[in-house]
Amino acid sequence: MNIITDFIPANQPNRPGTKLIGPRFITMHDTDNPSPGANALGHASYLKSSEAAERFVSWHFTVDDTNIVQHLPLDEAGWHAGDEDGPGNSSSIGIEICENTDGDRSKAEKRAAELVARLLEQFGLGIDAVVQHNHWSGKNCPHILRERSGGWDEFIDAVRHCRQEA
Ligand SMILES: [Zn+2]
Repeated sequence: MNIITDFIPANQPNRPGTKLIGPRFITMHDTDNPSPGANALGHASYLKSSEAAERFVSWHFTVDDTNIVQHLPLDEAGWHAGDEDGPGNSSSIGIEICENTDGDRSKAEKRAAELVARLLEQFGLGIDAVVQHNHWSGKNCPHILRERSGGWDEFIDAVRHCRQEA
């Protein structure tokens, strides 16, 4: 699995620099950005922009149909869970799945499941550690997985399947 590392600059306001506890959880998001070009590389440049800096948003990985980009080291917390200093931000790895209309969404979900399986293995976590952004803040995110009938369960099954294959 080829992961492109493109960290948010350490001095930028949306990179808190605080130690990630654990990690104990993996928090799943959808980007909520269907625009053509809003792929993993597009989000990597967004996270380094002043717009993202002013909104104090950051997460660890963005996954599309071809690339996985890592934006933060895995021992640093991000701001993606909407629970301020709560366990979502302070103890979970945040992963965004792209939904750009010029990308292959089902492929992006498959690749995200592979990444999650690998992270569970790496940090010795069980499948219960994979949660929705909704779990922390009540937001309708990841909205595609939540709105598609059986979508979340299918994603979790795909993660399980990847673990068995590994
Ligand atoms: Zn979210």
